[in-house]
Amino acid sequence: MNNTENNTSCITFLGTGTSTGVPQLGCSCETCLSTDPRDKRLRCSALLTINNKRILIDAGPDLRQQLIKNKIYHLDAILLTHEHYDHVGGLDDVRPLGGVKVYGESNVLHAIQRNMPYCFVKNKLPGVPNLKLIEIDESEFEIEGIKITPIRVMHAKLPILGYRIGDIAYITDAKTISDSEIEKMKGLKILVLSALRKEYHFSHLSLDEALKIATKVNADTTYFTHAGHEIGLHSKINKELPENIHYAFDNLSIYF
Ligand SMILES: [Zn+2]
Ligand SMILES: [Zn+2]
Ligand SMILES: [Zn+2]
Repeated sequence: MNNTENNTSCITFLGTGTSTGVPQLGCSCETCLSTDPRDKRLRCSALLTINNKRILIDAGPDLRQQLIKNKIYHLDAILLTHEHYDHVGGLDDVRPLGGVKVYGESNVLHAIQRNMPYCFVKNKLPGVPNLKLIEIDESEFEIEGIKITPIRVMHAKLPILGYRIGDIAYITDAKTISDSEIEKMKGLKILVLSALRKEYHFSHLSLDEALKIATKVNADTTYFTHAGHEIGLHSKINKELPENIHYAFDNLSIYF
């Protein structure tokens, strides 16, 4: 990724798949067998480049290959939405990048400490990841002068966070979002929102539910992410969506 212009912001979708990824192990449906690169979805993650700072949102188990593919060898921060493995399972991979600040709510940071105790003991072995955990809540905060507004969303009964950063908001693993949180996303150029599949799911927005929220938020453009193989071929599903709403795909970069 080369983004040297100071005032250009960019989002690169590093992964747009649900927790199993697409193709799903052992599945031989049309989507899992597709050779279209847009139907190959790694676990959900995105890189935001704003004011030449690089902010990674979530660090799933495919992180190493995602960073290599996109030549990302430096991160200014990692924002975590929640502690599920498909969003944090690649944190160990940032080892060669030196110290990295990791932002998350207290329950998320506790989960990281439980899962990766070797990073946080007194006498660390040389070479373990140098993660600087920074606890956040629903209050606004700044990373290197960039204002971040957390957005509370519900992942079934689990409260998790999405983030608004300037003209873009990134919301994944949502099932419900209150109107007061939707209010915080008014005037967006880009909304990224999870939309798992057409069928109902207890903890994820279905396509219809995601379309309703996208309509309420009314961003200039909406990109859906965290897709399961059930959503079908990208080439087909994208044609069924309104003009300013698209399914994202891996390695898609949008400048704004
Ligand atoms: Zn997930
Ligand atoms: Zn499949
Ligand atoms: Zn989740």
